[in-house]
Amino acid sequence: MTGYGSIIGGDDTVVALSTARGVGAVAVVRLSGPDSWAIARKMVAERNNFGTMSPRNMALFDLIDKDGERIDRALAVKFEGPASYTGEDIVEFHCHGGLAVSSAVIDSSRTHGAQLATAGEFTRRAFLNGRLDLAQAEAVDNLIHARTDEGLRAAMAGLDGSLGKQVEAMRNSLLEIRTELEYRIDFPEEAGQDLSPAKIQSLLDDTLKKLDDLLQGAGRALLASRGAVAVIAGAPNVGKSSLFNSLLGSSRAIVTSSPGTTRDAVESELVLDGHLVRLVDTAGLRTSSEEAEKIGVEYSRHYIACSDVVLFVHEAGSDFRRAESEFLSAHGRDRLVRVLSKVDINPVPSGDAGDFIPVSSKTGEGIERLKSAIAAAVDSLAESSGGKASQVTSLRQKKLLEEARELIVALDQANPPEIIAADIGLICSRLGEITGLIATDDVLDSIFSRFCIGK
Ligand code: GDP
Repeated sequence: MTGYGSIIGGDDTVVALSTARGVGAVAVVRLSGPDSWAIARKMVAERNNFGTMSPRNMALFDLIDKDGERIDRALAVKFEGPASYTGEDIVEFHCHGGLAVSSAVIDSSRTHGAQLATAGEFTRRAFLNGRLDLAQAEAVDNLIHARTDEGLRAAMAGLDGSLGKQVEAMRNSLLEIRTELEYRIDFPEEAGQDLSPAKIQSLLDDTLKKLDDLLQGAGRALLASRGAVAVIAGAPNVGKSSLFNSLLGSSRAIVTSSPGTTRDAVESELVLDGHLVRLVDTAGLRTSSEEAEKIGVEYSRHYIACSDVVLFVHEAGSDFRRAESEFLSAHGRDRLVRVLSKVDINPVPSGDAGDFIPVSSKTGEGIERLKSAIAAAVDSLAESSGGKASQVTSLRQKKLLEEARELIVALDQANPPEIIAADIGLICSRLGEITGLIATDDVLDSIFSRFCIGK
């Protein structure tokens, strides 16, 4: 990979626990940076052996604290930059699990100069050193957080770097055209005849087609990696929070009997038929003058707008309120799952429920059927998003692809070459942001802060 420069990770050597916190058989403490080998050497009793150990070999050492006191007997392995995860020299200690040992090992490394790593710092260094592009870094994060097989497969597809390669190829072709256009502007008399509007148009059409292909499979890829957002909507007190808890099998949301108490949105994940579903409980749809309730309603609208599936809840035996009817007519059937709640109080004779699924959060009646209906809705959503999943693994990537697409569609060849060159430059910027060739610290911060410490 080119374009990110050589080793630019940092002068610091950083340390973190790379395995999950808690009791386990093994805990991996990772050091990365220019002094990682030297620091690690001071942390072991057998310094000479550590010094002569070849990279990528493992050996057992007594780990010691700053006073020479033994704190663990652990395996150590060195990796030599730039052929390492971060592109820097790395040492990993595979210690005994549990917090006391790993904390003591980390403390020992700090007494010899290591700094605590921030969230995602190892992967950020890997990105800065050109070991992976930004789209791949996002796939790493998805892989770690994957909860389903399809999520794992989507993340692995993103990890191979093919999205970055496709985007870079498009960007390079566009940059060539832009350079040619600029040359013509500067030296009109020297310009050849080979840059016709038809040639530019053909490249733009070709790029548009490639973007469309990536975007077509993006919906499916994102459903797999991010999960489908299913929002529970309905009037206050119809039993939304109770349903949320029943579906999750726990008491995540607070349930009370006064209308409008769920003032914020709560979200929890569940896996249905192999699909990751992010279930969101929102406030009622009713418009109210009460400020807090209003905020809840805004949240509700916001979540519904961003949702993949809406579970619309209506209380069995009650009349449809105006807001409910309006909601139903405003939302197409395709992503709506209709639920009739509290059927233990008002039983609905079979056949009378129409396309509503009768449920009771009290008795559990209908909950399994509802789960299957949600899974089916996600299935049909994946089907309708067409094609096979592309390598897009984040909303950020999808948004940039869409912006690049819009810029191409809006590009007017009747404009003077200066404007066309500038427009092509904008398209290239969007594409460059996908791989991180163009990335501000803010963008990097927002991506890597989502990572765990130690990754
Ligand atoms: P929300 O405002 O729509 O979130 O409604 P809640 O889930 O807070 O429920 C409102 C009231 O209805 C509470 O008193 C619940 O105990 C009650 N409730 C919810 N679901 C059921 C149900 O399936 N059966 C019965 N009998 N009561 C329910």
